[in-house]
Amino acid sequence: MRRFAGSLHTIRLQLSNSDDCARLPSLANFCLLPNVTGEIKHVKITSAIKTKADAGTLRQVVAQQIRKYAPPSETTTAESACWNCTRNGRKNHLICTSCGYLQDVNEEVNYFELFNLPSSFSLEQQELTRRFRQLQTLVHPDKFSNKTTREQKNSADWSALINKAYKTLSAPIERGQYILKLQGQQMPQDNSALDKAFLMDMMERNEQVEEANTSKDLELLNDAVVQELNASTIELNKKFELKALEEAKNVLVKMKYLLSVQKSIKSKLQTLMGG
Ligand SMILES: [Zn+2]
Repeated sequence: MRRFAGSLHTIRLQLSNSDDCARLPSLANFCLLPNVTGEIKHVKITSAIKTKADAGTLRQVVAQQIRKYAPPSETTTAESACWNCTRNGRKNHLICTSCGYLQDVNEEVNYFELFNLPSSFSLEQQELTRRFRQLQTLVHPDKFSNKTTREQKNSADWSALINKAYKTLSAPIERGQYILKLQGQQMPQDNSALDKAFLMDMMERNEQVEEANTSKDLELLNDAVVQELNASTIELNKKFELKALEEAKNVLVKMKYLLSVQKSIKSKLQTLMGG
């Protein structure tokens, strides 16, 4: 998606390839896409636009979504001009390619793009860690101690954001939820989609944790949870590959239950060790 143009009654998106077209339906609920195919270059979104304010809001939403979906090379151009030299180029989203000044933090940056990784659930943890370290070196506060106050602040801000992004992408549950968020999806607020058998099983697990008296028992319970979390991560990967987002949500909710059991196990272990 190269750019979008808006007028009072239409928002026009210019699509550059079939991937863009495929992504469009998930961009926002208001999209009217009766016959989007890889060949269509322009899509008009005309629903729900009645006033100038509507058009403005819609433009903002679309622009926001496009920023999230656009590949890195194009996101760079969407970023604001350098605060120092007013040019546009960026290296790794962080450094102006013209003057080399460290840019202001962009909280909206897509974490996958930040690490220059494909926006996909399956990722190489080692590669993520490698890129994380590279970025942290790039913005390390020591490098900016003799630079402008603005860059000093930016280096601290980026450092914090890079940590947050790394934490999010490293943990399968966090990463899964982040991908859903990027696709405009929300996690269910209750457990109504879960089967009763699973919920009963979780209740039993919690009882077992309560009844466990030795660290050996607790470790066994924990081993079982770890195994299931690993299996769930594999299942989650499949759901994302199939773009079965509702099913992915279900797996994520189950994983959250398992994590909560694990938390109880760990807290009880600490009590046992301390006591
Ligand atoms: Zn610059």
